[in-house]
Amino acid sequence: MPPYKRYLADENAQSRFGEELAGHLSMGLLVMLRGDLGAGKTTLVRGLLRGLGYTGSVRSPTFTLLESYQTDAVSVCHLDLYRLADMDELELLGIRDYLDGHWSLWVEWPQRAPELARMADIEMNIEFTDPGRTVILAAATARGEQLLEKLP
Ligand code: ADP
Ligand code: MG
Repeated sequence: MPPYKRYLADENAQSRFGEELAGHLSMGLLVMLRGDLGAGKTTLVRGLLRGLGYTGSVRSPTFTLLESYQTDAVSVCHLDLYRLADMDELELLGIRDYLDGHWSLWVEWPQRAPELARMADIEMNIEFTDPGRTVILAAATARGEQLLEKLP
């Protein structure tokens, strides 16, 4: 299956794409979000959570590394591993609990945790395409393909 590409003109489009993905989310789906600082990774996850009906505030897990959200639909674990020291720290954060197949994990800076990155269902790259961004989604598993098939 070829990668899926979409141009997102502004922050609002970025957020709405996240909302759209919420409609196709499955339990256990692991998504790696790659892109430089300011690419819009967190913005996309905010949209995703809004799409899942979460109405609270969504903070960037810059310092906590991990934020979890239980929703009526699929529960989401949002990680930002930019400041991750090592894999032991990820274990201390309780990552095992979120890999029980009930959560969908959305991981910023997955390159900091290769063991987690290897488990990806979808690899998402976000590129700066002035003035907006281009998102490129590639499926790494059948579960990932199932989501990509649903995108227009
Ligand atoms: P990251 O988590 O990748 O570091 P953020 O989601 O925090 O990035 O977004 C950084 C900035 O980029 C925000 O100010 C946001 O408004 C802006 N932004 C997000 N998506 C887009 C887009 N598609 N086009 C233009 N600006 C965007
Ligand atoms: Mg971020």
